[in-house]
Amino acid sequence: MDVKKIYMDADALLEGHFKLSSGNHSQFYLQSAKVLEDPKTAKTLAVALAKEIQSSGLKIDTVCAPALGGLIAGFALATALDVRSIFAERVEGEMQIRRGFEIKKGERVLMCEDIITTGGSAMEAARVVASLGGVIVGVAALANRGFCKRENSDITTKANCKLPQDIPFFALEDFTFEMYSPDLCPLCKDGSEAMKPGSRGN
Ligand code: ZN
Repeated sequence: MDVKKIYMDADALLEGHFKLSSGNHSQFYLQSAKVLEDPKTAKTLAVALAKEIQSSGLKIDTVCAPALGGLIAGFALATALDVRSIFAERVEGEMQIRRGFEIKKGERVLMCEDIITTGGSAMEAARVVASLGGVIVGVAALANRGFCKRENSDITTKANCKLPQDIPFFALEDFTFEMYSPDLCPLCKDGSEAMKPGSRGN
């Protein structure tokens, strides 16, 4: 499956000069919501990801997405794996499990995001799940920004990857592109201004 082509066809791989939430600048931006707005595409990607997870033999009871970005990917993956789907959400900055979701002691939980950059939000939610008795057995994402090593890829883990090394990380594709601190950004040097993705009212 050509995941890059799917992102490009959905106008979800944006090229320009972007200011990322980390404060760094980049020439590219991934907008997974644009891919997932077509339920058929969401299903296709989730089924492919589920196949890879199932062929690893990993046993999963529940998929948990850290809101908001991972919600649709998490639900689609849980559907494909035929397991329970729950999500965490941020309340005044703190990740929480709400909505009456219960986690049994020893329940095997797979964290799922749309994109894993360093995995910070996924691990924040994972700690909450673990504090309620869940066992985090793996992490999954549609796309990997290349800071963490996923199963079946030979890229190496970078120092800023926050995913634990003792559980598997599944993703369909690596999207590695440069990020620059604003003072070293070549695009800024060329005179253009970095924009926050979606800042033009969309
Ligand atoms: Zn810049």
